Amino acid sequence: MFDLLNLPGIKPVDLSTDSKGITIIAEVDGAEIPKCEECQVQMHRHGRRTGTFADTPMQMQPVRLKITRPRYRCGSCGKMATPELTFLDERRRATARLVEAIRGRCLGMTFHALAEQTGLAVNSIKNIAFDLIGELEDTVHYETPVIMGIDEVNLAGGYRCVITNLATNNIFEMLEHRTQDHLKPFFKNLRDRERVEWVCTDMWRPFKCSFGPYLPNAKLVIDKFHVVKMASEALESERKRYQAELDKEERVRVKKSIRWLTLKRPSSLSPAEQEALTVIRSQLPSLAEAYDIKEAFYQIYDAEDKDKDKDEAIQLFAQWEASLPKKDFPEFRKLAKTVHNHYDDIFAYWDSPSQITNAYTESLNGVIKMANRLGRGYSYEIIRAKTLYAKYARTVGSGILVNPTTKVSETVEYGPHIPTLVDLADDGELD
Ligand SMILES: [Zn+2]
Repeated sequence: MFDLLNLPGIKPVDLSTDSKGITIIAEVDGAEIPKCEECQVQMHRHGRRTGTFADTPMQMQPVRLKITRPRYRCGSCGKMATPELTFLDERRRATARLVEAIRGRCLGMTFHALAEQTGLAVNSIKNIAFDLIGELEDTVHYETPVIMGIDEVNLAGGYRCVITNLATNNIFEMLEHRTQDHLKPFFKNLRDRERVEWVCTDMWRPFKCSFGPYLPNAKLVIDKFHVVKMASEALESERKRYQAELDKEERVRVKKSIRWLTLKRPSSLSPAEQEALTVIRSQLPSLAEAYDIKEAFYQIYDAEDKDKDKDEAIQLFAQWEASLPKKDFPEFRKLAKTVHNHYDDIFAYWDSPSQITNAYTESLNGVIKMANRLGRGYSYEIIRAKTLYAKYARTVGSGILVNPTTKVSETVEYGPHIPTLVDLADDGELD
């Protein structure tokens, strides 16, 4: 029979196909009868043993190898031996080449699809993946960001902490939880932690307490998008409060036409929406006023990379706060109080490099989408590894840099590139 296996030490003797795939019967080829390791005397044959191992698929079907091996026994001490087959991974009940093939694919495909292709149990695929993830943890290191983003995503049943490189738009790390118990050890053990110059986060207090003691050169800036989002949320609350006072028919009308209108910036309003805003100004002046207050708050950040400096931003906020009506709009007064609670960290934005929030929230949403898609049925650990270490993630995240001291080109990995991941997720190329 033609040796379609190409595995050293065995030869195929029969082949059958059924609904589960291809079964190949193989025998050990030309093994010499060994000497006993203990006694150094010639052993003698003592029956046979057959074992089944999964191998790489053929003709797009799973392959099972049934290998029959002779057994030997030492007449002197009774020790048993079988010929060792180096191509087998006995622990996985598979050929080493299959295990290698699974390692190459398990972070880019679903375990289920791999199990179907190979005939291995989903759990076996998972175990191979966990071994690989452990090795990657020890060997793959992404360059510590100079400008670091810390945020949260809701996936696999909880809020997870995502650490990003904001200068390059790459994911740097994911932590299981965003509590201090998880954050502190991460920052304490972070390589090159003195590299970090800026940390951009939301107003979640534990973030600041967690990195403060460990990042000696880092300055905190509260993420712009989290700040302006509060103005939109304040407007949303005012709208709902206002809406509750209308009769039912009006309420439906307001809800449909005003909800999105009030959340948009004037520059993104369609002509029809601009007209609707004019109607609101004449018929619902309080709501129009709330819209203008939201807009005035957004303007603190507008044109941030042109001429505005920190003093002007501070002045715009002071004017905005002073313009708030004393009695109405409690949500906006609450926003003013929040700004005061985080004053230095919010206005540190105007000291920071201009790219510090570029495309940030937008991209992160894309990643959440991707992670959720990857996440069906997966544990957090798997989603993390697939996000951080999958081949597509790592190749798009690396670049070649010439080391200025040694003049040698080095591959520097920054981690998965968020916009590329988002594109792949949109194209349905991640599963
Ligand atoms: Zn012996």
